[in-house]
Amino acid sequence: MGRKFFVGGNWKCNGTSGEVKKIVETLNAGKIPSTDVVEVVVSPPYVFLPVVKSSLRPEIQVAAQNCWVKKGGAYTGEVSAEMLADLDIPWVILGHSERRALLNESNEFVGDKVAYALSKGLKVIACVGETLEQREAGTTMEVVAAQTKAIADRVTDWTNVVVAYEPVWAIGTGKVASPEQAQEVHCELRKWLAANVSSEVASTTRIIYGGSVNGANCKELAAKPDVDGFLVGGASLKPEFIDIINSAT
Ligand code: PGA
Repeated sequence: MGRKFFVGGNWKCNGTSGEVKKIVETLNAGKIPSTDVVEVVVSPPYVFLPVVKSSLRPEIQVAAQNCWVKKGGAYTGEVSAEMLADLDIPWVILGHSERRALLNESNEFVGDKVAYALSKGLKVIACVGETLEQREAGTTMEVVAAQTKAIADRVTDWTNVVVAYEPVWAIGTGKVASPEQAQEVHCELRKWLAANVSSEVASTTRIIYGGSVNGANCKELAAKPDVDGFLVGGASLKPEFIDIINSAT
């Protein structure tokens, strides 16, 4: 056990230089628990990664929101895992539902990306989650298991993987999963890892929740035994992100 609480802030495609500076100032001034208690990672758009990395307090790490599936080259508009590693960007978010849905990223493509990013020394926040239609059809676990299997088929060392369970119906909608709904899927996902990867990976891999997490609902979610932290979108741009970080204690 001993899974360290993990709070990620996914800034998505938001922010001007001025706004980014303000967010960094807020993060630098906030009172947060020590890195022994919580691991905090914020994910600005690519163009702001260097400035955020260099101006942010050292206890908070940075993540890219995506990277290319293999070695860089003639892939206009893409950013490679090698480039992120070269800039000492330690983390990358992969398989976010917005990319799966809007950019048609398949389970296999996401799995390939996760494996490649890990092979270049990056740590990965790998996102999985069902749509409302899938939940209503009763296929939540099937969907989440298939997404996770595509990663498990390509990855042997899970040390540098955090799995983010993000139900699509809860993302950016203000409709947060109840603590019971989150716990149920996290617990099932951990069972899936135990059965299909190993009991060691199941007990050590952080499974974080994402989807309309805010300063008001984080405590109750964080109290659930299989919720090891959060991936926060909208609220990560606001001062309440500090409260979410503090839900670790
Ligand atoms: P949200 O986004 O907190 O704005 O719902 C979460 C995410 O997409 O990671």
